[in-house]
Amino acid sequence: MKKLARKNILNITPYKAGKPIEETKRELGLKEIIKLASNENPLGPSPKAVAAIKKNLGLINRYPDSQGFYLKKTIAAQIKARPENIVLANGSDEAIDTIIKTFAEEDENIVTADTTFLEYEIISKVNGRKVATAPLKNFKFDLAAIAGKINSKTKLVFIANPNNPTGTYVNRKELESFLKRMPKGAILVLDEAYDAFIDVKDYPNGLDYINKNNVIVLKTFSKAYGLAGLRIGYAAASAELASCMEKARQPFNVNLLAQAAAAAALSDKKFLRNTRGLVLKEKYLLYSRLQQLGLAFVPSVANFILIDTSRDGVKVFKAMLKEGVIVRDMQQYGLKNFIRVTIGKPEENRKFIKALKKVLGRSL
Ligand code: PMP
Repeated sequence: MKKLARKNILNITPYKAGKPIEETKRELGLKEIIKLASNENPLGPSPKAVAAIKKNLGLINRYPDSQGFYLKKTIAAQIKARPENIVLANGSDEAIDTIIKTFAEEDENIVTADTTFLEYEIISKVNGRKVATAPLKNFKFDLAAIAGKINSKTKLVFIANPNNPTGTYVNRKELESFLKRMPKGAILVLDEAYDAFIDVKDYPNGLDYINKNNVIVLKTFSKAYGLAGLRIGYAAASAELASCMEKARQPFNVNLLAQAAAAAALSDKKFLRNTRGLVLKEKYLLYSRLQQLGLAFVPSVANFILIDTSRDGVKVFKAMLKEGVIVRDMQQYGLKNFIRVTIGKPEENRKFIKALKKVLGRSL
């Protein structure tokens, strides 16, 4: 029978999300499961965000503010920009889609790395746009190789900074020399989903470039702010680029509760401080435990660590599930022997290490 979907849709391998806790409990009959698979905040949502949601629950018979007036104003004050620089989105995933729809003509292409957040490539293909990818070098974005993939039809370049799943970053000097090589008619998208966990001095603030270059910065409330389930993020860009994106997005893309919660979360400095403090402290503890186990890993400036298990990562992932720990295998990223673990609470990280030691002690 003739397939009805567009050809490029039929050819897509869908994004494989981290395995949900409930599904794992059901399948394995386990009572206690910890999830360290989706780089979420282990401390829960910001309490201020939860209070804001409760306060607004009785209003959900109304449409949300299509312009996101209050949230844009709050974000703008925080990042020292103007509300006109901000485009709200249903998670940064949606912002990626809006950017592609707004800027990439049918015959234009998109360039990124071959081992980075998979949605850049998937969403490009859903939109029928061609993607060229360059390999990483030492687990890092190789900007010379990326530049080599750019041609006269390249409209968008996506760089995750820090990169997922490697946790590496592009430094200020590297970024600035790359910007000089960007064609005038192309746009660089800097995805800063994990910027709250940075503990290095030479990390560039993408916002410094939005009014000087064709740069769009993506931010999310899914990670440090603990609002992954609400779906809220934004793009920051020059007023000119932002106004174009405003035309392409759905009018009510960000729901009323998400707008209220995100504005409250931005003011919750204590929650952010605690989250960052936990992630940094636990990161170094995990490094030393992994070293004790003799495992190689990629040093990370994000809230996750990419680990070389020296064996089939899918088998390690499955064996870890049976121990009640959900991590992420890296098959979709082409990193066969690797797993990625999100940094959790101290007791979760202890359980992870204990389970990993047990699993690796067996022959898989
Ligand atoms: N960018 C990167 C680099 C990510 O890792 C993720 C989440 N996995 C996203 C964007 C998407 O985040 P959101 O929940 O805001 O859609």
